[in-house]
Amino acid sequence: MRDDDKTLSASSSVERYSFSQKDELISLYDESFHLIDCSPRHSKTYFVDSLVDATLWHVYPELLAPKAKAAVEFVFANGVPRNIEIADATTAERRSLLIFRTARGIGVIEAERHSVRRQASNQSDNDRALLLHQATHDVLTGLANRRQFSDQLRDTLPVPLGAKLALMQIDLDDFKPINDTLGHGAGDTVLKMAAERIRSVLGERELAYRLAGDEFAVIQWKVDQPREAERLADALVDVFKEPFTVEGINVFVGASVGVAVAPGDGNEIEQLMKAADIALYAAKKDGRGRARTFSRSMLIVLEQREMLRRSLRTALQDGQFFVEYQPLVRPPFSIVGFEALLRWRHPLVGLIPPSVFIPMAESDGLMSEIGQWVLEQACRAAATWPAHFTVAVNLSSAEFLREGLTDRVAQTLDAVGLRADRLELEITESVLLERTTNNLDTLNTLNVLGVQISLDDFGTYYSSLSYLKNFPFDTIKIDKYFIKDLESDEKSQTIVRFIIALAHGLGMRVTAEGVETRGQITWLQKEGCDQLQGYFLGVPMPAGAIEEFLRQSSSFEFR
Ligand code: C2E
Ligand code: MG
Ligand code: MG
Repeated sequence: MRDDDKTLSASSSVERYSFSQKDELISLYDESFHLIDCSPRHSKTYFVDSLVDATLWHVYPELLAPKAKAAVEFVFANGVPRNIEIADATTAERRSLLIFRTARGIGVIEAERHSVRRQASNQSDNDRALLLHQATHDVLTGLANRRQFSDQLRDTLPVPLGAKLALMQIDLDDFKPINDTLGHGAGDTVLKMAAERIRSVLGERELAYRLAGDEFAVIQWKVDQPREAERLADALVDVFKEPFTVEGINVFVGASVGVAVAPGDGNEIEQLMKAADIALYAAKKDGRGRARTFSRSMLIVLEQREMLRRSLRTALQDGQFFVEYQPLVRPPFSIVGFEALLRWRHPLVGLIPPSVFIPMAESDGLMSEIGQWVLEQACRAAATWPAHFTVAVNLSSAEFLREGLTDRVAQTLDAVGLRADRLELEITESVLLERTTNNLDTLNTLNVLGVQISLDDFGTYYSSLSYLKNFPFDTIKIDKYFIKDLESDEKSQTIVRFIIALAHGLGMRVTAEGVETRGQITWLQKEGCDQLQGYFLGVPMPAGAIEEFLRQSSSFEFR
């Protein structure tokens, strides 16, 4: 037996597979059919144990017969248990072997040699193997399941001196939209194909598991780390670059992989899994569809984020939020309203940008409360402005999807005494991705209420034209990405011109975001853009600064 095999079998896994009777003949083999472990009775019968370099073929030479060998290979490849009858070479006595897939290789349960009721015994052994298989495998994909995964890690960790184990957490990118749009049947098909792809890149000493939903894992027992793990992780990412064909439709589902290696990144289950999770998180943050290996700096970044996340819980009560207002301008220079932009001043860290804390608040379920607070603040501020000024408030998906949005908006307007048509709600396309029919209802009732609705950051998400056809937007806001090089880049010009024509054709207004130069204003005005917003025209400012800003801007035309 090879050295690292010995270390792997240091703690006995037979116990986990042993049944009520202590004297059963059970043996376990790795993926190259080397004996890893066996029950005491098996050891006595065959004079082998895990310390002897024995293989399945030594123990059961009968299995080398072509038919039997094919059956063993079938079990190993497909995970479906088989019962094989063999005849003893010397005594011609028949024995039946139950061969089943285990986390690392295969297991064999040998039925009683002198069984009188062989038929019945076979049946119950078959059931037993089937039960064992079901308990340790995922029904949908046939991969080993989470239980096996934990067992395997528990058996192997901590790794002994000199040994290495790499853990890979795999998460499919963009799997959820498939379930949501094509249905669960299609989702299941993709999961099965995904499992197949994962299996296809695995070699010796590499095993895949399905942990839950679209989460998979691979354990690799190789010494040259992290090189071997990174090679496999890259192969896993690559194998997901081809589209999946489901019901004749091509869909792209990428994979992100987080790698952690024991003992360096952790030598206990929790520690190692956390390291792989952190690496996976980093892979997702880096733009998905890639593999990352755990490093200490990832941990520091994560700890910072966790610290922020914890303080976010009390930020609202502690009065750490405030709202700034950025002017919305009709070209060239007349102010028509302001967009409310949320700010968080952390007592120690200082000002934290909304792009950092809003996604955190969303995922922690804090955003609907915070959003309601912003809405109230913004409406109150707007009530003090000239009566023709509007106020735009951004809605995150948590706020938009929560029941009773229209009621909350109506009540807030009522309480503050603001006309509905002075409020503009900004949503991005990503908000509309979920729950489509109710979305239309929500937007329609807001519309009936008289509230204006803007489609924010247009051009950066899917820019689906069907949204424009189906949803009642009053305004499209062109993302600043297309405005920044407007003066020099012809492609941006073509796109902006197109969006303006498209919006006007649909009876919608257009706002350009991120206007930073006089040249952009001139160009946008010439092309018929209805509203402008950007640092050149006014930076976001606290509510208290607006009065002064209005006084100054009416006395001279923006410098
Ligand atoms: P947004 O709604 O597209 O807001 C415009 C963003 O562009 C703001 O960033 C604004 O400060 C920035 N901006 C304005 N003019 C210029 C310019 O000339 N050049 C450049 N480079 N940037 C400009 P901010 O304040 O960091 O907000 C980022 C995003 O956070 C917002 O994008 C919005 O999606 C979200 N957000 C802000 N406040 C809230 C809120 O109260 N609720 C929700 N749900 N989201 C909010
Ligand atoms: Mg906005
Ligand atoms: Mg925007």
